Amino acid sequence: MTNVREVRKSVDSRAEQCGRKGAVSLMAVSKTHPYSAILDCYEEGQRLFGENRVQEVCEKFPPVSQRPDGMKLCLIGHLQRNKVKKILPLVDRIDSVDSTALMDELEKELAKTDRCIEILFEINSSHEEQKSGFADEKALFEAADHLALCPHLILKGLMTVGPLGFDEEKNRAAFRYAKALFDRLRQRFDLTVLSMGMSADYLQAIEEGSTEVRIGTAIFGQRTYDAT
Ligand SMILES: *Cc1c(COP(=O)(O)O)cnc(C)c1O
Repeated sequence: MTNVREVRKSVDSRAEQCGRKGAVSLMAVSKTHPYSAILDCYEEGQRLFGENRVQEVCEKFPPVSQRPDGMKLCLIGHLQRNKVKKILPLVDRIDSVDSTALMDELEKELAKTDRCIEILFEINSSHEEQKSGFADEKALFEAADHLALCPHLILKGLMTVGPLGFDEEKNRAAFRYAKALFDRLRQRFDLTVLSMGMSADYLQAIEEGSTEVRIGTAIFGQRTYDAT
């Protein structure tokens, strides 16, 4: 058993309080937890999952054809260009696209089999150096222009990670920045996903316009990292 049902309820009720009933989807972030826990969560009705490391996806998940019906897996961690070939067959969406070089690599690989994939652009909304994501508006809009050269990439929206530490005002400022960029890009593209909010800050993220929250700890419990 996981806590996915309670979290689902909490997400739904906050969305409703904000006048956006049914408009916020829930991604279960299963990193460090075994595939059995993911299947438990699936049995409890969850369909959308996120993992942040390529290696972990390769080791943990069976091929797409052997996964239960409707399970959707997204990569939410930084993707190195040399791992593109490995990850593409295993995921349904890449949420962490953060450079035009990565876009080119994805496009090159996808063109070989003429497959299209959904992507999100990651933005560094807290402007913290250690975070990945497009650094500013200019970089983001250049990447949006670059989509013209990448016909196999389908932009669905933006992803962002809030600032380190728990400072409510800083979180809200980062989320508002992401929402403003989302609204501007939406004038040019048909976007549906603004992925922001984690276990500690998802209620605020929903209030600031998130359409998809990424929850690990509150669903699966604390992560224990293997020291190796
Ligand atoms: C781990 C992770 C999450 C989930 O974090 P929790 O605090 O456990 O809810 C969300 N997004 C990304 C990118 C992550 O790496």
